[in-house]
Amino acid sequence: MFLVAAAASPAAGREGPRRVLLIHSFGRDFSPFAEVAARFRTRLAERSPEPVEFIDAPLEMGRFDGGDRDAPLLDFLRAIYRDGAPDLIVPVGAPAAMFAMRHREGFFPDAPVLLLSADKRRMEGIDRGPSVTSVGIEMNLAAILANVTDLLPETGHVYYVGGTSPMEKFWDAELRREWSRHEGQKRFHWLTDRPMSEIRTLVAELPPRSVVVVGIMNRDAAGVPHEWFSALRVIRETSSAPVFGYSMEQMGEGIVGGRLSPMTRVGETGADTAARILGGENAGAIAPVYLGISEPVYDWRELKHWGIPESSLPAGATILFREPGLWESHRTAVLLATGFIVLQSVLIGLLLAARRRARETDASLSLAADAGKIGLWRRQARGGRFVVNDRWRQIFGLPEAGSLSPEEVLERIPGEDRARVTAAIEQAARGGRDFAVEHRVIHPDGSVRWVATHGRLEPGRNGQPPGTRGASLDITELQEASATAALQRQELAHLSRISSLGVLSGALAHEINQPLGSILSNAQAAEFLLESDQPDLEELRAILADIVREDRRAGDVIKRLRALLRRGETTPQPLDANESVREVLRLTRSDLIARHVATELKLAADPPMLHADRVQLQQVLLNLILNACDAMAELPPDQRILVLETRSGGSEVILSVRDRGAGLPADPSLIFEPFHTTKEHGLGLGLAICRTLIEAHHGRLWAENNPGGGAVFHVALPLASSPS
Ligand code: ADP
Repeated sequence: MFLVAAAASPAAGREGPRRVLLIHSFGRDFSPFAEVAARFRTRLAERSPEPVEFIDAPLEMGRFDGGDRDAPLLDFLRAIYRDGAPDLIVPVGAPAAMFAMRHREGFFPDAPVLLLSADKRRMEGIDRGPSVTSVGIEMNLAAILANVTDLLPETGHVYYVGGTSPMEKFWDAELRREWSRHEGQKRFHWLTDRPMSEIRTLVAELPPRSVVVVGIMNRDAAGVPHEWFSALRVIRETSSAPVFGYSMEQMGEGIVGGRLSPMTRVGETGADTAARILGGENAGAIAPVYLGISEPVYDWRELKHWGIPESSLPAGATILFREPGLWESHRTAVLLATGFIVLQSVLIGLLLAARRRARETDASLSLAADAGKIGLWRRQARGGRFVVNDRWRQIFGLPEAGSLSPEEVLERIPGEDRARVTAAIEQAARGGRDFAVEHRVIHPDGSVRWVATHGRLEPGRNGQPPGTRGASLDITELQEASATAALQRQELAHLSRISSLGVLSGALAHEINQPLGSILSNAQAAEFLLESDQPDLEELRAILADIVREDRRAGDVIKRLRALLRRGETTPQPLDANESVREVLRLTRSDLIARHVATELKLAADPPMLHADRVQLQQVLLNLILNACDAMAELPPDQRILVLETRSGGSEVILSVRDRGAGLPADPSLIFEPFHTTKEHGLGLGLAICRTLIEAHHGRLWAENNPGGGAVFHVALPLASSPS
């Protein structure tokens, strides 16, 4: 009876969109077919020269074993395609493929067929006939287990998590057959007949040398449907053993990795084939494609979490999601911070020496240490007792009171770092020098802090062995800020921020050096005073107060640096335009002095409030100011004048940066083009990014020439009260 419909040949002379029939093996919502089909639709709609009309027909579950049970769907399709065959038939998954092959003769025998996402093994014995091709997957069940044993050869228990739909059961059975060969060396536990709540509890307390393999989970034993990855994420959260998977799409969702099947890529590759067929190519002449497993890939975060060393990965492995270390993530910040810490520690060393000679200054000293959030320690050589301040106990997560043994303290430092710390101390002892080392400290609650420690060996008195003393500073937050900054490196906005930082690093170092210089001279003065038999305590106190103030100033510089590095989520807020300009000036002051650029402020008398993200606005103004300085670099120093203005104009606030440089090129729009630069080391991205940032704030950024020479850049942003 289907021959009637078959009379119409595909698309022959018919007007209107190309008609593609998708036959689903298990309904539209079953993973991974649902995702494969979604990608197929989207890509084909893009690639096809003509508009495409998709019709989705689900094969009822359990009805793919032939006979009369196929009849209702065939009747339905016959009704839909009464006026002519579809231009392409796309069965998704093996059951649908078999259905189509079974009825091909009677059902549109001339319509081309693309078998999508079927496993190669299931297609092998099938006679495909003419004008049929396929884009599928070559599942490799042995690889799923090999991914585990490659990394963890000692594994004794494998817990497989899967669902209960017919397809999930099919793969469950296939895996059991494939893995039964390894029954002797490992125990396999099939968590395929339990509700998710039970699976969660079970994986939370697995015996040693266990792993979890998460397969397809559309519906658990309690009948609860699960989105493709939600089951995986839930299991990863509670699992006490490493979690493995089978498909590339699970990467990043909690699996360790390995050689994986690129499931959804089948959708895209299939769409390209479909576009060729719709474009007139003969489907039968297109060779079938089966995508195999990938090269090995691993999730760095998972390797770290489960303590799997990179040395155990197979050759050629790619590691994804690597979080850069402190050093790689931000050299400048680290150098600045470390320099700052080391200098501060030296200062503390000086102050400690003073303390020995004048016990009276103790209170002021700890005030100075507290202001700098510095932990102080001294270890007497004989008996090895530690004398420490409260901050040091906090930094090391030690009890608030009670005596401390060296073992107790060293226990807080994880193994590899401990070796480095002891080596640094020993080396310092041999060379008679100070030691400085960065190391981790594990707190009793398991949290990890990064600590910079600077120490010094003290010669023992009266022939006794030397003791040690020094200072430690918690640098975790700075490190986190730097790591976050590195994660953002690929974002253009950040690229520009980093490059501004490169320019600014000199200025920041300068700003930090000033207070530090002053701290040092104060410390020297204090030391000098203490040399006298009767030190003037009033004078000493005044000196220490100065030190604390300068210390805060230096701290502020670091804070500003961190604010610039922090991850830039846009949080627009009401800002005082005048204050924003002043803030950027504070940041660039030393740079402007070094470049002999004088600044003139023409700020609105009544400070206009604008609506913008503070850091992004800073970034834009910074860029404009640095560009203006560059533009005036060739002028004699007394002519380098930078004018910063603010004013309200209607519903906007306008900030202008004016220079006396050479002015704009004949076509000023050029300078906002990405990668347009006239500077030897320029990136040509600054202005393009600034404009993007300002437009994201519903504002405008434009430039014009000054009547008296030079260029002026205007930033217009919405008034804080106006709705944006
Ligand atoms: P970069 O600074 O890396 O070159 P920008 O996007 O900041 O990138 O600037 C692009 C180009 O615009 C500069 O190379 C310069 O030629 C021009 N330009 C920017 N600001 C000024 C200015 N104030 N005066 C004259 N030309 C400018």
